[in-house]
Amino acid sequence: MDDRQTPPSDDLFSSAGLAPERPASDVVSVLLPFAVAEPYSYRVPHGMSAAPGDIVQVPLGTRDVVGVVWDDVPGLDRTSNRLRHVAARFNTPPLAAEARKFVDWVAGYTVSTRGMVLRMVLRAPGALEPEGSRPGLRLAGPPPERITPARQRVLDVAADGLAWSKSGLAGAAGVSPGVVDGLVAAGTLIPVEIPPLAVAVPPDPGFAVASLNPAQAAGAAALRSAAGEGFSVTLIDGVTGSGKTEVYFEAVAEILSRGGQVLILLPEIALTATFLDRFALRFGQRPAEWHSDVAPRIRERVWRGVADGSVRAVVGARSALFLPFPDLRLVVVDEEHDSAYKQEDGVTYHARDMAVVRGQIGRFPVVLSSATPSIESRVNADQGRYRRIVLPDRFAGAALPDVSAIDLRLDQPERGRWLAPRLVSAVAATIADGGQALLFLNRRGYAPLTLCRTCGHRFQCPNCATWLVEHRFRGQLVCHHCGHAEPRPQNCPQCGNEDTLVACGPGVERLAEEVLSRFPAARTTVLSSDMLGGVQRIRRELKAIADGEADIIIGTQLVAKGHNFPLLRLVGVVDADLGLAHGDLRAAERTFQLLSQVTGRAGRVGGASRAFLQTSAPDHPVIQAIVAGDREAFYLREIEERRIAQLPPFARLAAIIVSGPDRASARGHATALRAAAPPSDTISVFGPAEAPLAVIRGQHRYRMLIHAPRSADVQSYVRQWLAAAPQPRGSVRAQVDIDPQSFM
Ligand code: ADP
Ligand code: ZN
Repeated sequence: MDDRQTPPSDDLFSSAGLAPERPASDVVSVLLPFAVAEPYSYRVPHGMSAAPGDIVQVPLGTRDVVGVVWDDVPGLDRTSNRLRHVAARFNTPPLAAEARKFVDWVAGYTVSTRGMVLRMVLRAPGALEPEGSRPGLRLAGPPPERITPARQRVLDVAADGLAWSKSGLAGAAGVSPGVVDGLVAAGTLIPVEIPPLAVAVPPDPGFAVASLNPAQAAGAAALRSAAGEGFSVTLIDGVTGSGKTEVYFEAVAEILSRGGQVLILLPEIALTATFLDRFALRFGQRPAEWHSDVAPRIRERVWRGVADGSVRAVVGARSALFLPFPDLRLVVVDEEHDSAYKQEDGVTYHARDMAVVRGQIGRFPVVLSSATPSIESRVNADQGRYRRIVLPDRFAGAALPDVSAIDLRLDQPERGRWLAPRLVSAVAATIADGGQALLFLNRRGYAPLTLCRTCGHRFQCPNCATWLVEHRFRGQLVCHHCGHAEPRPQNCPQCGNEDTLVACGPGVERLAEEVLSRFPAARTTVLSSDMLGGVQRIRRELKAIADGEADIIIGTQLVAKGHNFPLLRLVGVVDADLGLAHGDLRAAERTFQLLSQVTGRAGRVGGASRAFLQTSAPDHPVIQAIVAGDREAFYLREIEERRIAQLPPFARLAAIIVSGPDRASARGHATALRAAAPPSDTISVFGPAEAPLAVIRGQHRYRMLIHAPRSADVQSYVRQWLAAAPQPRGSVRAQVDIDPQSFM
C-alpha cells in the first residue's frame, strides 16, 4: 500500500477492528452535509433511539435538515436545556461503520470538511423515503358510451390489461391527458396502484463461466484467493485486448458467491453501455448503474438498494464510492490510469486512491486494471506494495497494431490540409478492403482559434482567459471552459471588415471536412463529447460503429477509451504532439497512455492492423516507445525521471488555488496566505503565481504549489497553515488540491 495514503492520524488503521457501535444515548452527535468539520449535538426525544449511522432529520436554524448520527462523543453539556431534539429518524438501514470511517478519512486526506464528504454520501435525498406505489390506471370498466378515434387509441393501448401511469398511457396512445381523464370519468379506466420496481436482480456468479487462457487463468486464481485474505491491491497490467475484464470478473464472481457486494468503477460509464451487457453475459443480469446520467428516480432506487443490500453489484462513476454499501467486499477500478477519476471541484479526491483506502478500511481486496497503468500504480507494484498480474498478449492470438511515425517535417500535408499523403493512402487502402479507419484528433470543434486577417483580432471568452473555439456545425464560437457561446459573425467586430475571419488549426469538424472531400463515398462519422443529442446519441453512434456502419471514424479522446470496434484496422493520430506541448509533470505519461489506448483500438479481434502517428518530434521518447511497442522503455525512463526530479510518486505535491472576482483580490489573498505559510526544513512552497488559466468563469486565479518528501504529513502542514492564515474576504476562495493532477 502506498504510504502516500497513510492517514493523517496513523492509528485509524492500526487499531485491530472498527470502533464498536456505541449504544443509543440521550444526546447524540449528528454530522450534517454542509461545510462543517464537526458534528452538532442533539437530544434524542423519549421513545426514539438513535445510534451511530442512523439517518435522521434535525432542526438547524429555521429548517429541518438530514444528517447522520456520528461516532464522535457529543461535545455539549448533557444537562443543557438549549439542545434541540432530533426531529425524526428515517426508516433506512444505518450508514455502516466502514462507510462513516471512510467519510472521516477522505475529509482528513483531502483537507475538506467531513460534512462536505458526507454530502457526497447523501446525494439521493429522495431515497430516504420508502418508494411508495404510484397511481396507475387499468382497463376494467364498461366501454364508454361515446367513442372517438383518440379514445379508441387509448383503449387499444390499455387492452393489454396492464397498469399504466396516466402520462405513460396518454403518451403511448398519442393523445392528451384529458382524453384519459375522460375515460376515467366514464368508469372505463379504473385507478390501481403500481408497485415500485425491483432495482436489480442479484447477478449469478455461475451463470456463464468463461474459459480462460493460461495467463488469464493464473490471474483469476490469484484474485480468487485474494478474496479471502483481507486487504490487498492487485494491479492487472495487460495490453489492450488481453482480456483484463474477463480476469477481474472472476474476482467479482468469487465475492458474489461469498455473498459480498461489489463495485466496479469505470471512467466513462455513460458511454460504456456495452459493458453492462458484457456483465450480463457473464452473470445473467445487468448490474445497477450509478452516474450522473441515470434518472433521479432510478438513482434513488439504486441508493436504497445498495443501502438495504438488495443490490449486490454496482457499476459506476467515481461518485459510486460514496454509496452506502453495508457489505462492500471488492472494488475494481477499470482503466485506473484515467484522469476522469480525479474530481476537481468541491471535495477534490482521486477515486482510484480513495478506492484503495476504502479497501483498507473494509479489509477487502481492490483491483486496479489498465493497459497503461499510472506511474503511481506501477511504482507501487514494483516496490511490492501492490500485487501485479501481467497479461502480455492479446486474447486468442490477436496481434497489436504495427505502429509507425509519420514525420510531418518530411511528409507534409498540403496547405490547409491535415492528413499526410501516407496516411491518406493507408485510409484509402483500408476502406477499399472493407475495414474501418479511425482518425484521432483530441480537439473538439472546427478550429481552436479564429482571427481577423486584416486587424489580427482574436475571439476571446468574456468570462475566461481563453480563445473561443469555432464550432461550424452549430455556427458558433464556444468557450470550452465555461460553455459561453456566441454566433460567428460575418464581419470582424473590431475592424468591421467583411469576410476576413480565418480559422487557424484543425479540430475534428475541420478534419471531417477534409475527409469528406477526399473520400466522398465513404461513410464518415464524427464522434466528440459535445455532439448534439448527448450521451444517448453517442451510445447509438458507438454501437453503429461496432456494427460496421461506418468506414471512417473521426474522434476525440471519447473514442480512445475501452471500446471494442471489431472491424477497426487502421488508426491515424493526426497530431501526436498535442499532449506533449502541455509541459506539466504528467504530459509524457498522459500522452503515452492516450496514444497507446487509441492505437490499441485497432485489430482487437485479430488480423493485421496498423497505426500511424503524425508527429514533428519522431525522436521523442514517448513516440519512440509507442512505435517500438516497448512499454517497458517508457515506464523505466519515466519512473527514473520522476525519481531524479523528486516528483510524485517519489515526493508529495499539493496545490492551493486562490480565486476571486478580480485580479487584485485574488492576488492579495494569495500573497497574504503565502506569508502565513509555516516555516519548514523539508516542505517547500512555490508561488503564488497567476494560474496558466488565469481566469475561469470570471474568477481570477492564483496558484501555490507545495512540495514535500514522501515522509511528510502534508495534510497537517496545510491544515496548520490555513488555521493560522487570514480568512479570505468576500467571495475570495482558497481551494486545497492534494495530489493535483491539473496544474492549470
Ligand atoms: P481488455 O480489457 O484487456 O482490453 P477485454 O477484456 O475487453 O480486453 O477482452 C478483449 C476481447 O477478447 C473481448 O472481445 C473479450 O470478449 C475477448 N476475450 C478476452 N478473454 C476471453 C476469454 N477468456 N474467452 C472469450 N473471450 C475473451
Ligand atoms: Zn469561458
